[in-house]
Amino acid sequence: MKNDDPNENNPFKISPSPSTSTPFPSPPEFFKELKLKTEMVSDAEKPNKALEAMEEILNERQSIRVYMDTCTKCGACAESCHYYLGTNDPNNMPAHRVDLFRKVYKKHFSIEGKLLGPLVGAEKMDSSVLEEWYKYFYSCSECRRCSIFCPFGIDTAEVTMAAREIMLRVGIGTKYANEIISKVHKIGNNLGIPELAFWSNLEFCIEEIRDTMGVSVNLPGTKKNPTDEIAQAKIGAEILYVPPSADLFVNIDTQIGAMLIFHAAGADYTMSHSASEAANFGLFQDYADLKAINKRIVDEAHRLGVKKVIFGECGHAWRAFKNITEKWNGQLNFEIEHIFQYTERLIQLGKISLDKTQITQLVTLHDPCNYARGSGLLDPQRYILNQTATNFIEMDPKKTRENTFCCGGGGGMLMDELMDLRMKGAKPRAEAVRDVNAEYLAAPCAICKAQLRLAMDHYKLNTEVGGVLDLVGKAIKITKMDASNDISSKESKKKTKCSLCEKEFQSYDECANHTEKSHEISKNQADMCCEPQ
Ligand code: SF4
Ligand code: SF4
Repeated sequence: MKNDDPNENNPFKISPSPSTSTPFPSPPEFFKELKLKTEMVSDAEKPNKALEAMEEILNERQSIRVYMDTCTKCGACAESCHYYLGTNDPNNMPAHRVDLFRKVYKKHFSIEGKLLGPLVGAEKMDSSVLEEWYKYFYSCSECRRCSIFCPFGIDTAEVTMAAREIMLRVGIGTKYANEIISKVHKIGNNLGIPELAFWSNLEFCIEEIRDTMGVSVNLPGTKKNPTDEIAQAKIGAEILYVPPSADLFVNIDTQIGAMLIFHAAGADYTMSHSASEAANFGLFQDYADLKAINKRIVDEAHRLGVKKVIFGECGHAWRAFKNITEKWNGQLNFEIEHIFQYTERLIQLGKISLDKTQITQLVTLHDPCNYARGSGLLDPQRYILNQTATNFIEMDPKKTRENTFCCGGGGGMLMDELMDLRMKGAKPRAEAVRDVNAEYLAAPCAICKAQLRLAMDHYKLNTEVGGVLDLVGKAIKITKMDASNDISSKESKKKTKCSLCEKEFQSYDECANHTEKSHEISKNQADMCCEPQ
């Protein structure tokens, strides 16, 4: 049949339409590993049990009550949501999404709702409400974009998280997120990578670096015997590096970039299978798992006695770690830093140098929501890209930095069965990429990378998707073509020089102490000013 529709082959011209996507429900066995207290009750009991959970959460989280009581229906948030823009479904307007929660709140927890019922939009909790919640609170990626348009700062993401937790407590959750969280608790990371494969993958990265660059970098671990298959994290290393596990499996170039940065800087770093996952899916659904997953890394950092934990490219991982670690898991004996902050400082101090001519593609940058609105990490990655690529261009400022659009797959929604919704939600981000004709989209988050590679294909854009570190790894100048640059070796630790006054020391620690005190600079900068001899 003849195709008369000129728009049919242009995915950007397809009109928004509601999505029928819903997540596959979690089977009971995936609830068993959760740290959240759940009750696998019958369908008939779920509404009442959900109300009990709702009451508990309302008592714990005052902010949710405030959000229930403040919306004036001004409409300022309506067009801020990528899922509303992609589906035109009124329930995907942020205020309507919150209304799904608010109507139950009014009916059961407000005097006016109890007295006036439907006249004030109150509606009782029942199984059809729970079905609606399941669909629409899993049509929100908790990106918080709506919150910056709301004059009262109503944060729909928090309401979504509360609704998801209430549902989980009565046995309603997604197979995707529950399975992932179970893998973290049982095996140690989202992808279920066992310890042998973890170290093997790191050795694979080392071979790749050797084959492609002729550079020999050290394994960020130790082996008692060279023939041992499994290495161990280095006790007493300066730095513990924690990437998302996807970097050891799918985004190998991101991991290689990080390893080259540490190598070129002569950093004393280690990695550990017990801290092999930066991502924290607890953030997407419940506080108990959020805290427990975070604690795994804190405990490992303390066991190893590291001075610093550096996180890799993952938006929600960084938000979860930066914002809750100290508050929820006690006194820390280490500092926290993002790999972008660390790399920016290394470049500024001349500890690593880059050859921009290696990166000639037109590069643009996607701001993951959890960097931009969840943790204020906006500038180091821009500084790095400006130093790394010849042609770095920003997208429309209405769609970047704090205004960034979600990739469409965040918030625990990167499931195959939500593909229709995910692609509809990715449209605003794809439009912004198209508008600058980018050849490389730096998307520094494991979830964003996975989602945006599919979105670029869906919207027929010839744009490569990767990380910021991937580019650094390609542009970095390695001056010492062997691993002797690594100050983790005992030899190099013995002879260290302060780069500010040229004074020599017998150990790295002595040098760092001297630099910090004598030159009155911060501990972080002091670390960078000690050069192995
Ligand atoms: S948090 Fe993001 S996905 Fe959720 S309603 Fe607001 S804009 Fe939409
Ligand atoms: S912007 Fe805020 S107050 Fe206005 S409709 Fe949206 S949530 Fe309600």
